[in-house]
Amino acid sequence: MVSQGRTQVGIIGAGPAGLLLARLLKLHGVESVILEQRDRAYVEGRVRAGVLEQGTASLLEEAGVADRLKREGLVHDGIEIVVRDRSFRIDFRDLTDKTVVVYGQTEVTKDLIAARLGGDGPIVWNAANVTIHDIDSARPRLTYRCDGQEHELTCDFIAGCDGFHGVSRQSIPANALRHFERVYPFGWLGILADVPPCSHELIYAKHARGFALASMRSPTRSRYYIQCSLYEDLDEWPDALVWEELKRRLGSEAAARMTTGPAIEKSIAPLRSFVAAPMRHGRLFLAGDAAHIVPPTGAKGLNLAASDVYYLCRALTAFYGDKRTDLLDRYSETALARVWKAERFSWWMTTMLHKLHDETSFEAQMQLAELDYLASSRAAQTALAENYVGLPY
Ligand SMILES: Cc1cc2nc3c(=O)[nH]c(=O)nc-3n(C[C@H](O)[C@H](O)[C@H](O)COP(=O)(O)OP(=O)(O)OC[C@H]3O[C@@H](n4cnc5c(N)ncnc54)[C@H](O)[C@@H]3O)c2cc1C
Repeated sequence: MVSQGRTQVGIIGAGPAGLLLARLLKLHGVESVILEQRDRAYVEGRVRAGVLEQGTASLLEEAGVADRLKREGLVHDGIEIVVRDRSFRIDFRDLTDKTVVVYGQTEVTKDLIAARLGGDGPIVWNAANVTIHDIDSARPRLTYRCDGQEHELTCDFIAGCDGFHGVSRQSIPANALRHFERVYPFGWLGILADVPPCSHELIYAKHARGFALASMRSPTRSRYYIQCSLYEDLDEWPDALVWEELKRRLGSEAAARMTTGPAIEKSIAPLRSFVAAPMRHGRLFLAGDAAHIVPPTGAKGLNLAASDVYYLCRALTAFYGDKRTDLLDRYSETALARVWKAERFSWWMTTMLHKLHDETSFEAQMQLAELDYLASSRAAQTALAENYVGLPY
């Protein structure tokens, strides 16, 4: 026996993209159902991004979920860049009159889930085998299995917000989609620890042994990364060794201020640039990591999910409010214009700051020349700053 349901927008995935879209649609009077393959505890506990552009923070405010963000978010006016133990600062406020806010993706997710479950509509947790049907028709359907029963949900539109490994992008016929991809030959080994950060701003370090990043989630919780090989074995990286390597790469000043402690999370993430285009097929619209991935060096992944949602919500509400289809028709083109610029910025930051070559090579000298120019040119610093704080929607 199949249970039947109906909604305006069927949303696959309760990550930041799916949850924010559902929330904004609700505020515009559009109903949705979110299908999520994992349980709530898993989704709320997933440690990921932490730097929010001003546009993302504004969107969360518009969504009415920014009370805690305003109380607990750490406003950052700039970042520090360390090259071979010499540092310089990119002052966002001075260069762009804008800032970023450090607030963990886990917290964004918790705030959005709390709002959703406060009466906005259902999240179906543990929805297994979600399958998309009839996306070329005016009545697409989602089928899934939950609580031992088969379910069918008829929708006007489907939003594929199910991340890079989700089912949405894979449901688009191969000949209707183009993929653009770069897989980097290294990864990031990240640790999360309940120790105060070594700096009140993020530190990006280029070192002969590889890239390092000092970041944080709160005044008492630090997030650090080091560039590592893709074949690294986490068992060969006890906490003490990670701290030692961080101190070496981040430079003597940061090392002197660094508090070490046991890692509460430790993982290795590969780095990838990826875009699938177009971001729409029939009545299926992709948003967030389902359509694109950036290496985390530019802190853009979560922020791109937010800008996609902004464009998609605007297009859907124009359809329901004014019977307009032009914004839906232009969604992919509009979203991709911003996506490609963030892809460029993330690729550029990654290429400039990581160890890619033998230090004596021509390419390594080009990296150092680029950083030297950045250190001394206000124009170059402004270009970095305006991309980092987020290009306009
Ligand atoms: C390890 C890691 C570290 C990162 N660090 C940073 C960072 O420092 N800065 C930054 O900006 N970005 C970072 N990112 C990227 C950022 O976290 C993502 O860009 C962001 O989560 C995108 O949100 P999303 O909602 O599009 O996708 P996701 O967060 O991936 O959410 C997708 C949701 O869909 C669900 N789902 C998947 N398949 C199905 C299915 N078949 N049926 C139902 N549900 C499904 C998933 O369980 C998940 O809940 C990181 C990503 C990873 C993986």
